[in-house]
Amino acid sequence: MGFLSGKRALITGIASNRSIAWGIARAMRREGATIAATYPNAKMEPRVRKLADELDAPIVLPCDVSSDDGILNLFSELRNTWEGLDILVHSIAFAHQEELVGPFVETVTREGFRVAHDISSYSFAALGKAALPLMEGRQSALLTISYIGSVRAIPNYNVMGLAKASLEANVRYMAQSMGKKGIRVNAVSAGPIRTLAASGIKDFRSMLAGFEQAAPLGRLITIDEVGNAAAFLCSDLASGITGEITYVDGGFNTAGAILTTS
Ligand code: NAP
Repeated sequence: MGFLSGKRALITGIASNRSIAWGIARAMRREGATIAATYPNAKMEPRVRKLADELDAPIVLPCDVSSDDGILNLFSELRNTWEGLDILVHSIAFAHQEELVGPFVETVTREGFRVAHDISSYSFAALGKAALPLMEGRQSALLTISYIGSVRAIPNYNVMGLAKASLEANVRYMAQSMGKKGIRVNAVSAGPIRTLAASGIKDFRSMLAGFEQAAPLGRLITIDEVGNAAAFLCSDLASGITGEITYVDGGFNTAGAILTTS
């Protein structure tokens, strides 16, 4: 029996079989959870349904997190089938591509800042707020995905780094406000992984090479490694852990320097 046996997990952000959310969904399914998945628009629906079928997911619903109605409809639909929800995974981010190229100060705009924070950070609190009636009083857990660009300046990551800093603060404030209702809130800060979202960041390939060189494990990490950590953090095995940002990055965040000579 898996350590998520009997748990119901709603997973956002599955865009392809390279998505971090896909690694999380697979790990949670393997550990016995029943999965519900969301898709952001009609174009993505067939792709998400196909992947959800592989996980025997009984529920696949639309949700564009930029819309309040989209979020409310998601939970009113979910409530038709599930009377409670144990796990909510937020694996969503967006910034305009032109803000992920070049020096931060030259590329940032008021509208780009607003959109990045709205979709990549506010949406986590909005989903948590809407999910509250389904999640309270049942040892439930929320999880989001961050990146080290929240606490270090990473070339080209720009406004998304600011949105991730906001997302991590969100984790702490949500953990504080939901803890006494029996809900834990955590984040995994993942190392760089080739996904659709990552392909929008300029020079991402060279970032991967630098990461591989500096990480104590000396290699890239996988969506399955993020998935395993996420499954643990959302399980009762992690019942004492909340408000934390857990790095799954091969130790990259702990490394101080790299030698360029052999
Ligand atoms: P991904 O597969 O492209 O997933 C990103 C997801 O966000 C997609 O499903 C995307 O849908 C969805 N999304 C964007 N705007 C949305 C909206 N308004 N409503 C609903 N969904 C929306 O990329 P990923 O790398 O797995 O990203 C997942 C999370 O991991 C993100 O928070 C990202 O910042 C974080 N992360 C990624 C890395 C990395 O190196 N890949 C490292 C650390 C953290 P569409 O495809 O339709 O836009």
